[in-house]
Amino acid sequence: MFRDLLECTPRGLYCPAGDFYVDPWASVDCAILTHAHADHARSGSKRYLSAKSSESLLRVRLGQSIDLQTVAYGESLRIKDARVSLHPAGHILGSSQVRIEVAGRVALITGDYKLQSDLTCDAWEPVRCDLMVSESTFGLPVFRWPETRLVIQEMIGWWEENQRQGRTSLLLAYSVGKAQRVLAEIFRECGVEVASKVAVHGAMLGPNRAYVSAGVALPELPSAASLGGQHDWSESLVIGPPSTQSTPWMERFSDPSIAMASGWMAIRGTRRRRNVERGFVLSDHVDWPDLLTAIGQCQPEQVWVTHGFSEVVSRYLTECGTAAEVLQTRFAGEESEPTLAEKSEEAS
Ligand SMILES: [Zn+2]
Ligand SMILES: [Zn+2]
Repeated sequence: MFRDLLECTPRGLYCPAGDFYVDPWASVDCAILTHAHADHARSGSKRYLSAKSSESLLRVRLGQSIDLQTVAYGESLRIKDARVSLHPAGHILGSSQVRIEVAGRVALITGDYKLQSDLTCDAWEPVRCDLMVSESTFGLPVFRWPETRLVIQEMIGWWEENQRQGRTSLLLAYSVGKAQRVLAEIFRECGVEVASKVAVHGAMLGPNRAYVSAGVALPELPSAASLGGQHDWSESLVIGPPSTQSTPWMERFSDPSIAMASGWMAIRGTRRRRNVERGFVLSDHVDWPDLLTAIGQCQPEQVWVTHGFSEVVSRYLTECGTAAEVLQTRFAGEESEPTLAEKSEEAS
């Protein structure tokens, strides 16, 4: 019943009235991008449209030479027979929800989103719609995020304890979004003077610069590799992407205490399976209560549920009286639980 608004095609989510795709997984002529994570922003399309604040990260990811038009949040634009505007999704810097209006009816593609506060991006905004496409990465009742500030204080306590013991604090966090959010929170709590004890993996230098150029206050941090073999790591906090675990990059640190910041840390057993000493429950996606709050505030007639626990969420919504369907997409969820991520890699 919403096919004039939106269709799920082999190339991705397609709006026939506007002849454009949102976060397509194949090359297309016109792609609107919700945010700069790899499963949503793919190279190869002719023209791109995104939020203004997403530009620096998208150019880091897709190359400086992409044909990218940007709009401010809330700015409305006509694309053929569709009216399009982007609204903050609260997920990472520049992340957007795409509002598409055709003949008086509204579809909202939320991309990835969260309702929790984040110093490094604009806060999620409810948008009234008839059709809502929602992710469900953490769409199970067991996922309920603690206050960000409490998690950060716990993290700082862990770092202080490691300093007393002369151990490097190595925090594994996704390099686009999570790392910058953690850094911004830590500097707010501890002051920027602690920056002299903080280093990052080289993969974070580009994203960090993109955040700074978009106006997010982050001190310039060195890459761990640039500090040389003689560096004293005993008081350091080092942030690296989860993929660096058990790689030679880690061998430079003195008896590191390894921790991970992820929504998956809310599940008993993940910490042990990932072989990390500490787990901090910090996610850039909605938890179960916030997923339901968001749907309640957007008041859709129908919800299409994608990446994550889409069956569970779809069934729950239907039982509660909101029409819902599972939507098969190729969004993977950058924060996938490792075993699931490995499986989906094998499958693709
Ligand atoms: Zn994402
Ligand atoms: Zn996603």
